[in-house]
Amino acid sequence: MGLVENYVFCLFFAIVGSNMIYREYGKTGKKISAIGFGGMRFDNPNDLDKSAEMLVYALDNGINYFDTAPYYFKGKSEKVYGSALPELKKAGKDFYFSTKSMGKDIDTVRKDLDKSLERLNCDCVDFFHVWCVLSPEDYSSRKAAGVIDEFHKIKEEGLAKHICISTHMNGSEIRNVLTEDDYEGMTVGYSAINFPFREDGIRAAAEKNMGIVIMNPLGGGMIVGNPEEFSFIKMNEEQTIVDAAIHFLLSDESITTALVGFSRKEHIDQALNAVNSFKPYTSQQVASLKEKIQSDFQSLCTTCGYCKICPQDIPVWAFMESYNHALINSSNKPLERLAMHWGVNKDELDRCIECGQCEEACTQHLPILERFELLKKESWH
Ligand code: SF4
Ligand code: SF4
Repeated sequence: MGLVENYVFCLFFAIVGSNMIYREYGKTGKKISAIGFGGMRFDNPNDLDKSAEMLVYALDNGINYFDTAPYYFKGKSEKVYGSALPELKKAGKDFYFSTKSMGKDIDTVRKDLDKSLERLNCDCVDFFHVWCVLSPEDYSSRKAAGVIDEFHKIKEEGLAKHICISTHMNGSEIRNVLTEDDYEGMTVGYSAINFPFREDGIRAAAEKNMGIVIMNPLGGGMIVGNPEEFSFIKMNEEQTIVDAAIHFLLSDESITTALVGFSRKEHIDQALNAVNSFKPYTSQQVASLKEKIQSDFQSLCTTCGYCKICPQDIPVWAFMESYNHALINSSNKPLERLAMHWGVNKDELDRCIECGQCEEACTQHLPILERFELLKKESWH
């Protein structure tokens, strides 16, 4: 008997092949592996063949959901997927490609889709996302421009099988959008260290029986980069920090899959090990994690996005999320994070007029302006 079968929780799972866990993706009838392939971390995306081997290895080991996007490595990630496609088909197993468009108008969405299909080497993508919705205003303006209707038209035309949304909004904002429009699935940043602040969005999607795909399951690298500081998410000594982050997510029955960005085959093995050793967290364990995060990590930015009201268009959340890394471990370099992860230059702070609106809006009541000053310090360059 497989490990997972030892738990009553397995009512929600079907075990296919190795010990991979599969879950229903909402109402689509598709069964998706609980670990998904994130296409944003290839070691060398210029080497199409070598990178494509990673996808084949993943499918061989039960991973059947492959997520990518046009801007991952400037289109090269999609090319890797397209290059892997013939070999993936040979395996004779079900697998699914997911991609996205953040087009703000109909023409851009169509152009994005055409380019994606060409790079992916297919006529129809399985999951097509309204990508990177940052705020209710962002969503409203795309909707007013006809973008959301266009996505549904694309499905009617048979160019995408399922229409989904990918967002960085906070829980209540997600709930509002999902009330307004119908999607078959949602991709959202969620992890053991930010869940109290996005949980309502997950619940809203679950109430609509949508597929729920988790991006940044390792807290954008924060959990793995600071294993001591986040050791409290582990429930036993055998768990690695990666196991713990994945086990926490899989314990939520409504989560379909957690996307992990793989650079090497060992990373795939690591994620598979986490599935093999999965033992669901109890509701008491989750409740105590939540309490700890809400009390001890109050000074962390949760990337909830409420500060996206800056009259100067300064990406406050990017600065504060980068600052998190220095708070957790003083040897971390927040400005490196700012540039590498968010593509933001610290000089953007020069445009700040110190109006204080971001501090007023901040759900964590963070001293944002004080942190701006610290971020300008030479020692963090
Ligand atoms: S204080 Fe600066 S960063 Fe904050 S909202 Fe005002 S201009 Fe934007
Ligand atoms: S700075 Fe505050 S409001 Fe902005 S994303 Fe972080 S926690 Fe949310």
